This record gives sequence, C-alpha cells and structure tokens, in this order.
Amino acid sequence: MDVLGLGADPVAADALVCSAKGCRAEARWGLLWNNPKLHTPERRKVWLACDDHRTRLEQFLGARRFWRSTVDVDDLERA
Ligand SMILES: [Zn+2]
Repeated sequence: MDVLGLGADPVAADALVCSAKGCRAEARWGLLWNNPKLHTPERRKVWLACDDHRTRLEQFLGARRFWRSTVDVDDLERA
C-alpha cells in the first residue's frame, strides 16, 4: 500500500543498501526520480542512498532533470 501517495516503486523488505556503485552502506534516503522518456508522469523510480552518496546521486539525477524528491528510507513502501 502506498500510504504516502508517493507513487514510488516498492523497495526490498530486508536490508536496504546504497545504490551508488561499489557502496555497501546501509541506505538512509530514497531518491525518487522519473525519466519522462521512459516513465509515465506519476511513476517514481527509487534509488537508495547512504549519507555519503545522497548529494552525489541527487546531482546526477538533477543534471538529467530526472530527480523529483528525496525521502527518508523509512517512508518508502516495502515489497
Ligand atoms: Zn553509499
């Protein structure tokens, strides 16, 4: 159930690991993004980020105009 109405894809129910390449740190943030060429406007893909990688991943998505918002990982829907 998408209690917050984020429209984000569910994430795994167990250990959440940062999406940055090579990083195995526990994720603290969910970066919600959308590529208008691939996704319907309401769709939100999710990248997970640790504290160290949050800004870098936001900048990566922001530079492509894909970034929409960042939420606490605890607010994400679990599969
Ligand atoms: Zn990381």
